[in-house]
Amino acid sequence: MKPAPFEYHAPESVADVVGLLAEYGDDAKPLAGGQSLVPLLAMRLTRFEHLVDLNRVDELFGVTADNGGVRIGAMTRQAAVETDATVADRVPLLHLATPHIGHFQIRNRGTIGGSVAHADPASEYPAVMLALDGTAEITSASGSREVPAAEFFQSTFTTAVEPHELLVGLRFSAWDQPAGFAFGEIARRSGDFALAGAAVAIGADDQGRINRAAVGMLGVGAVPLRAPSVEAALLATTVADAYPEEIGRLAADDMDPIDDVHAGARYRRQAGSTLVGRVLADALSQLGGEADGG
Ligand SMILES: Cc1cc2nc3c(=O)[nH]c(=O)nc-3n(C[C@H](O)[C@H](O)[C@H](O)COP(=O)(O)OP(=O)(O)OC[C@H]3O[C@@H](n4cnc5c(N)ncnc54)[C@H](O)[C@@H]3O)c2cc1C
Repeated sequence: MKPAPFEYHAPESVADVVGLLAEYGDDAKPLAGGQSLVPLLAMRLTRFEHLVDLNRVDELFGVTADNGGVRIGAMTRQAAVETDATVADRVPLLHLATPHIGHFQIRNRGTIGGSVAHADPASEYPAVMLALDGTAEITSASGSREVPAAEFFQSTFTTAVEPHELLVGLRFSAWDQPAGFAFGEIARRSGDFALAGAAVAIGADDQGRINRAAVGMLGVGAVPLRAPSVEAALLATTVADAYPEEIGRLAADDMDPIDDVHAGARYRRQAGSTLVGRVLADALSQLGGEADGG
């Protein structure tokens, strides 16, 4: 099928983009890499009278070191995130998660901002953003605001970005302590969306006491989820005493999966919590801990 007719706009600045979004409101939609939006339009699952192409807006592209962390422009391609040395150094979870997104052809066009704004609960970047308490920079014709990840993902495919607003960038703080970072997911085939996945960051002091824990999960709820039971259990132990298989099982209580054509809720909960244990084991092993996650 072909998309319903639309008017195409190709602005070259953020000011022009938000001007168009203010003018056309609900009838306009930003077009980033098009890897999610174009299929939806082509299958006529959605339609918009105005598409505002972001691909000529240079100021939306690029990674910059920022205050000990990283700022990533919304139009930065997933492939650029994958290979960026600053990202790999300061936000290893983003680096580890990116190869799990579709295939390299998808990542060559798909953008980090598009992935986060699309807010598919089975997507990798939203779970990483949530785990790491990333921040979304949002701009409109009437001003700018920053939204923490915990308030950004509101429901499936719905975020804090209003129709007249543009996501311009994401910010992540670096962890400045000994830490282990790991990402893993279960998918039917390489390149498929995950049935369940986990992003884990664990920090410890020089005695091996775990003093920071962040666990984000994908594919096991209507939105990306944190695993507070797992984080609390990690914070109550040490790297040497943490038993990842057992702690991972606690993640089942933090999930809210649904049955769909890809997998049942029971499968997602059981396989997902086993996966969390394995990803915990990977992160802990980087700190010298238990390497067997069950
Ligand atoms: C075969 C295939 C496999 C895939 N597998 C995966 C996978 O495993 N994991 C995964 O996470 N994704 C996967 N994707 C989706 C891919 O990652 C998309 O690139 C991503 O979801 C959307 O990014 P995009 O830049 O293509 O955005 P687009 O498709 O252009 O836009 C997506 C949505 O976000 C909005 N949007 C985009 N940018 C902004 C912005 N700056 N401000 C406000 N709104 C904005 C658009 O209006 C639209 O509603 C797959 C896609 C395909 C085709």
